[in-house]
Amino acid sequence: MSGYIESVLETVKKRNPNEPEFHQAVEEVLESLAPVINTHPELRDAAILERIVEPERQIWFRVPWQDDQGKIHVNRAFRIEFNSALGPYKGGIRFHPSVYAGIIKFLGFEQIFKNSLTGLMMGGGKGGSDFDPKGKSDSEIMRFCQSFMTELYRHIGADTDVPAGDIGVGGREVGYMFGQYKRLTGLFTGVLTGKGLDFGGSLVRTEATGYGCVYFCEEMLKGKGTSFEGKTVTVSGSGNVAIYAHEKATQLGAKVVAMSDSNGYIYCESGIDLAAVKQLKEVERKRIKEYVKMHKAAKYVEGCGGIWDVKCDVALPCATQNELDGEAAKTLISNGCIAVAEGANMPCTPDAAKAFVKNGVLFGPGKAANAGGVAVSGLEMAQNSQRLHWNFEETDQYLHRIMTDIYTSSSEAAEKYGTPGNLINGANIAGFMKVSRAMMAQGLV
Ligand code: NDP
Repeated sequence: MSGYIESVLETVKKRNPNEPEFHQAVEEVLESLAPVINTHPELRDAAILERIVEPERQIWFRVPWQDDQGKIHVNRAFRIEFNSALGPYKGGIRFHPSVYAGIIKFLGFEQIFKNSLTGLMMGGGKGGSDFDPKGKSDSEIMRFCQSFMTELYRHIGADTDVPAGDIGVGGREVGYMFGQYKRLTGLFTGVLTGKGLDFGGSLVRTEATGYGCVYFCEEMLKGKGTSFEGKTVTVSGSGNVAIYAHEKATQLGAKVVAMSDSNGYIYCESGIDLAAVKQLKEVERKRIKEYVKMHKAAKYVEGCGGIWDVKCDVALPCATQNELDGEAAKTLISNGCIAVAEGANMPCTPDAAKAFVKNGVLFGPGKAANAGGVAVSGLEMAQNSQRLHWNFEETDQYLHRIMTDIYTSSSEAAEKYGTPGNLINGANIAGFMKVSRAMMAQGLV
């Protein structure tokens, strides 16, 4: 890392103390950008790096709400509007007890480059709260979402900031938040994406991140003259991204043998029955261990980290940040894994990612491989503006094309800047180039 880039990183660490996830995300991007800064000194003169690591605006607020017993709770919530050079801020909302400013900043920062890679007009942002939706009744979830939106509504809008779902925020929560936004403003606009199909949602949005991750991985495999056909796949998590990664990988001829939640993982040599997982997770909202009650051939292992001991050809980490570390990477490599594509945001630690690249394992970083979700969110915004509804095939083809284009632009950038095949560098550079050109063109903002 050059002295200049190191000094930018040092400033980030000083200004944002105790936010290791944010530091990690910034370091990974800045490391990749050294060759770009060397060839484009004008970016340094315009302090593009210093500006891009500082959010344009950060909103912190309290969310008071009442549980079913009448007890009052207060949660903390955030919306980080990171960069609007390419369009309205765009990025999901996460409800999880681990949420604090550092997590939302890391996600918002990643989102800038991811959104740029999609080729659509979207800036980067992210939001969330330390509210834990697990074990809450429908009415509690609704009251929380309404209280959350009662503050957030004044900061967002179809042409300013368009939130969506993330961990703990699915169609149900987006519906409650949309209803409250409409009630407060009187506006029926595309202010949130991931809406229900009856009120402006897009087909393929539910499937988009998981499908997109597999489309991206398929391009990586094609580059090595192979495909998903006949491959054994491990997918961590059993939420939205994991379920649809499983579905697309299976459609392309692979067999998914393991899935997990934050308590443990299930393994079945003959392949995991996706319909049963959907029923458990999407309908009954139960734990993954319940699966083995219905499927006697499957086994459940307590502890989610053990999933990486399962022998597989392709690993798709689709759960959460830093879930796959250097040790797990070593095990996957020695078990013959040939490709890893990140469905989640930053699921591989820096050690793990470096080990994959060093050992020639195809590696698709999250900001490229999981961009399908926000891409279809962008398509939802386009449909809302047109007051039209596209069909499934049309939208899926669009998604597929976007994922292929992201692969192509990332590999080309990796090659052009001296690290052929390194999609971490390629995705960071390709995403950054477009944002930095726009920032240069828009003057000192
Ligand atoms: P969900 O809330 O639907 O699912 C998250 C899943 O991961 C749950 O099954 C959860 O289990 C599990 N999980 C959490 N922590 C761990 C852990 N340490 N080990 C194993 N499993 C764990 O979230 P999404 O599927 O929407 O999001 C997953 C990831 O994908 C996140 O990183 C998110 O930021 C990223 N992403 C999501 C997009 C989307 O469109 N949804 C778009 C782009 C990225 P449990 O129920 O026990 O908590």
